[in-house]
Amino acid sequence: MAGLAARWAQEGRAVGFVPTMGALHSGHASLIRRARDENERLVVSLFVNPLQFGPGEDFSLYPRTFPADRRLCAQSRVDVLYRPSVEQVYPPGFKTEVEVPELSGLLCGRFRPGHFKGVATVVLKLLETTRPSRAYFGEKDFQQLVIIKKMVKDLNVAVSIIGCPTIRDGDGLALSSRNRYLSAWQRSYAPMLYAALLRASKAARLGGSPGPLIGKIRREILKMPEVSIDYVEIVNSETLGKAPVLRGSLRLLAAVRVARTRLIDNIALSC
Ligand code: AMP
Repeated sequence: MAGLAARWAQEGRAVGFVPTMGALHSGHASLIRRARDENERLVVSLFVNPLQFGPGEDFSLYPRTFPADRRLCAQSRVDVLYRPSVEQVYPPGFKTEVEVPELSGLLCGRFRPGHFKGVATVVLKLLETTRPSRAYFGEKDFQQLVIIKKMVKDLNVAVSIIGCPTIRDGDGLALSSRNRYLSAWQRSYAPMLYAALLRASKAARLGGSPGPLIGKIRREILKMPEVSIDYVEIVNSETLGKAPVLRGSLRLLAAVRVARTRLIDNIALSC
C-alpha cells in the first residue's frame, strides 16, 4: 500500500480514503460513493482495530463479512481494498499512542476508557500509510469525527477530513455494524432512540436551558424495554463541552444499551 501511495503522490493524484472496520452497510457505502465522486483514486481499509476495544468488549464477536465487503467495494469501484493484519499495523514492540485527551475523556470516552486513543492511533497510522488527499468519516460517530479533525489539525497532517451525514434505515435507526446483535424484538423498538432525538431537536428551537429537555429525552428513552442509558448530552459541536444554554451550533448525543448492545446516535441542534 505504501509504495502505491507514494506513486500516486508523485503523480499528483487526488486520493480518497475511507477507513472502516468492515461488515459494510449502506452507511459505509455512502462514504465510499462520495469519496469515489471526489477523487481520482480511492482506498478503503478494513481493519478491526484491537486497540479501540476495551476488555470485555466485542472485539472477538465483531462481525466479519469479508466476501460481501469485497463485493461492495468492487461494485463501488474502489481501487484498493487495504486489509492489513494486526501484526502489520502493530508489529512486535509497537509502543506509541496518539490521544486528544481533552476530547477523548468526554461522552463515549467516559464509558469506553482508551477507546479514542485506539481510534486516533490507528487512524494516524492508516493516514500515514495511505497518504490520502481526503479522508471520509461518518457523523454517526460524531465524537470520533471531532477528535480526528483535531488530531489532524494539531499534528499538521496534510489531509482534509470530510464529515458525512448519518444514513438510517427507513424507520430512523442509524445503520451500524452492531445492529445485527439486536434480536428482532429489540430491533423493532430501537428506532425509539432516534425518535426521541428528533423530537428534542424540534423542541430545542425554543431555546432555554438544556436540563429539562435532556430529562424529557431520558424519560422517552427509558420507555424502551431492556434499556439503560450511558449518557444523553447537549454539547458544543466543536469543543464537545456541555452547552449551558440552548443557543448556537450544538449537538445532541446519546449512547444507550439495549440489553448488551450499545447504540449511539446524535443530531444537530440549531437554536
Ligand atoms: P466503522 O466500520 O463502524 O468503524 O465505521 C467506518 C466509518 O463509517 C466511520 O467513519 C463511521 O462513522 C461511518 N459510518 C458508520 N455507520 C454510518 C452510518 N449509518 N452513516 C454514515 N456513516 C457511517
